[in-house]
Amino acid sequence: MRAMLIIADGMGDRLIPELGNGKIGKTPLEATETPSLDELARRGINGLVDVIRPGIIPGSDTAHLSLFGYDAFKTYSGRGALEALGVGLQVKKGDVAFRCNLATVENGVVIDRRAGRISEEGDELIKVLQGIRSDISPDTKIIVKHTVEHRCAMILSGPGISPKVSSTDPKKKGEKIARSVPLEETKAAYKTSMLLNELTDEFCNILSAHPVNTKRKAQGLPPANCVLFRGGGTIPDVVPLPELYKSSCAFIAPSSLVAGVAIAVGMKPIEVPEATGSYDTNHRAKAMNALAALESNEFVFVHFKPTDNASHDGDVAMKQKMIQKVDELVEIILDANMPDLHIAVCADHCTPLRVREHTADPVPLVIMGSQVRIDDIKVFDERSAAKGALQRLRGHDIMPILMNFIGHQKMFGA
Ligand code: ZN
Ligand code: ZN
Repeated sequence: MRAMLIIADGMGDRLIPELGNGKIGKTPLEATETPSLDELARRGINGLVDVIRPGIIPGSDTAHLSLFGYDAFKTYSGRGALEALGVGLQVKKGDVAFRCNLATVENGVVIDRRAGRISEEGDELIKVLQGIRSDISPDTKIIVKHTVEHRCAMILSGPGISPKVSSTDPKKKGEKIARSVPLEETKAAYKTSMLLNELTDEFCNILSAHPVNTKRKAQGLPPANCVLFRGGGTIPDVVPLPELYKSSCAFIAPSSLVAGVAIAVGMKPIEVPEATGSYDTNHRAKAMNALAALESNEFVFVHFKPTDNASHDGDVAMKQKMIQKVDELVEIILDANMPDLHIAVCADHCTPLRVREHTADPVPLVIMGSQVRIDDIKVFDERSAAKGALQRLRGHDIMPILMNFIGHQKMFGA
């Protein structure tokens, strides 16, 4: 038996007056034609999920840790290492990773946090920072990698370093680069913050003199002469899923943050170049690749990002369009007609269109498969799911429930 977990990012929502007919509105899920999701609801069991805990607003990273069965409060260790993993970098236990921006600085003031959204030239610039050694911490190995656009990642490895340091990113243009300070009273945090400040100056000196920037200035473009550090983190200390459930686990997730969480818990990435994480994502290619992955994996996780993008954009029509894409993705999985497959669909949090930010409202969950005791719910949406047989769960309950259905759960006791 096998299981597939499909997470539509930010799909849950609140009632929107113009989507309803009378005084009471409807959620986008309620107002959108979703024949395949409804079929899952009809043939499955339904419930509502507080992804982390009632009233706690999940980030996509903490939400996914919880959805994969872990206590996010105990295991979450910052965004930097997860994103670095998600873009294919190696982060070992004890390493501290940061998210970085190439930025434009003039006299210590940040003029452009994204250096004019520099892109291809980022590779060439970042290359010169390789092999740099610190005077403050000579035994720290420093790796900087360009990822996409103005973004890069930095990984520090060596003894006595800590992620508990403040960011150097002032978050606003026109403000001075922030000096990093320790966020806890440890030698490691003190040393790491000093190291970040040293590297800020050092990188600035090197990049300012780089021919790419001389050329950019001549063309009237903002030079990428500084690197801002934020989101310091380590990889979460967890027992990986394959070990916990004696199953091989794979995932499809183009979003680097969610991919990082999946890698951190031991899932193997499946590359689907047509899956972009944006509105143009090829959901059919995702579904076909997910089905193929089931041939050699007991568990496959599929992440669908653009429902969240539409929600942050406050675009009602686009959110409905993206929900339809989720429905078509599910249709392809259903059409494969795999009798040994249990399919679960859920969201990682609500991103209500009228709020345009994540909220803590619970999200609908459906699980369909040969072993479930089908309930009376006929459609997949927030208010219907509230009446389902699964009732109200936490995000970290989903994996154990799925693994119980497919026979990969151990007995507790004797
Ligand atoms: Zn999310
Ligand atoms: Zn979001």
